[in-house]
Amino acid sequence: MNHDRSRDLYDRALSVMPGGVNSSVRAAIEPYPFFVERGDGGHVVDADGNRYIDWVMGLGPLLYGHDLPQPVESAVQSRVSEGPMFGAPTEIEVEHAEFVTRHVPSVESIRFVNSGTEATVSACRLARAATGRDKIVVMQGGYHGAQETTLVEGEYDDVKPSSPGIPDEFAEHTLAVPFNDEEAAQRVFEDHGEDIAAVLVEPILANMGVVHPVKGYHETLRDLTEDNGALLIFDEVITGFRVGGLQCAQGKFGIDPDITTFGKLIGGGFPVGAIGGRSELIEQFTPSGEVFQAGTFSGHPVTMAAGLESLRYAAEHDVYEHINGLGEQLRTGLQEIVEDQAPEYTVAGTEGIFKVLFTRDAPETFENHCEGGCSQRPDCPRFEHCPKNAADVAAGQTDRWRRVFWGEMKDQGVFLSQNQFEAQFVTYAHTDDDVEETLEAYKRAL
Ligand code: PLP
Repeated sequence: MNHDRSRDLYDRALSVMPGGVNSSVRAAIEPYPFFVERGDGGHVVDADGNRYIDWVMGLGPLLYGHDLPQPVESAVQSRVSEGPMFGAPTEIEVEHAEFVTRHVPSVESIRFVNSGTEATVSACRLARAATGRDKIVVMQGGYHGAQETTLVEGEYDDVKPSSPGIPDEFAEHTLAVPFNDEEAAQRVFEDHGEDIAAVLVEPILANMGVVHPVKGYHETLRDLTEDNGALLIFDEVITGFRVGGLQCAQGKFGIDPDITTFGKLIGGGFPVGAIGGRSELIEQFTPSGEVFQAGTFSGHPVTMAAGLESLRYAAEHDVYEHINGLGEQLRTGLQEIVEDQAPEYTVAGTEGIFKVLFTRDAPETFENHCEGGCSQRPDCPRFEHCPKNAADVAAGQTDRWRRVFWGEMKDQGVFLSQNQFEAQFVTYAHTDDDVEETLEAYKRAL
């Protein structure tokens, strides 16, 4: 594959942008990222004309691949022609809010913002204000965007900022526990219950190789928060309107969080985030309440049109059936390949999400965790190899992942997410042929 033009563009980018990119993970392809010229259904074409089956899909916001369904495209075009934004409310914001509140039972009221990060920042502020407490419990390996409260490393109450530039004192208000560890969750409430404002959790860890909750884990978090006067925040930036269809992951797991953060799919491919929940909580945001929240671009009409029409289209067509069917086909095919060629590895994911984890030499803890049973695939014969938390995923062979993914898969025209930890996404634009070609490429690569 020729990458001359991408290499030239990267050289230019390096001299004017830090690391040559505007979001770190994009630079992770070695020795340099390919620059995308255009998308086309389930594919992207790079600046040198190379074509790839795209399973990255913008890292989650694209339900339809790179071709918007006609009603979505028309809605976007007409919004643009009416003038892109106004600094005054528009009807499309109300319609989008009505759509989300109609479909997601725990959401009675919603504030739209511009990114998942903004959503989780505001959710933490709201939880702290509503409870009068400061501490936020997060999961080790969970990701909630580039924000001060959650950029931490370490464990339990011994956490430090994971980035320079964040004062140590900020991390004193964050408690980090392993995902799926009910005892750790109980202990953190025993030790700090009166200071905990909220537990902030992705319903499925989707930035750490895709890790499912074991049965009963979210129920435990729900009970603990309720019993201790804290709030449960589900970060559905990735899972929202992807896992569990229009009811989101919370509908699938039967949990009503107090607050939900959204992003990605609710903007139909344009920058978006949102904080939703019970009215009495969300109305504590200014101007109805006192918790400051504002944004020049929030509820941007073009984004609202793209997001709302995308979700409407999904409600009226076989979008989730198609995506989930192909996802199952991919995971089953990958499982067969892995069993045959690399039995220690793990195929993770659900519905339209998938990932191969290089969990050779799986630590014994996998088996211990298994006793609880997987809420996702209780019948899975390989369940004992299934990672149950961030440490299990991190124990995988990330170097091997590097070689296989950056070398073998990319060179065969398959674009996978840029590190071992980020999820990959199936869209309505993908086809049986894309799945077959991808499986063949994995076979050769593994
Ligand atoms: N929360 C989760 C679960 C995410 O996966 C992400 C981004 O991938 C974010 C929050 C941050 O969203 P954004 O990148 O739009 O700021």
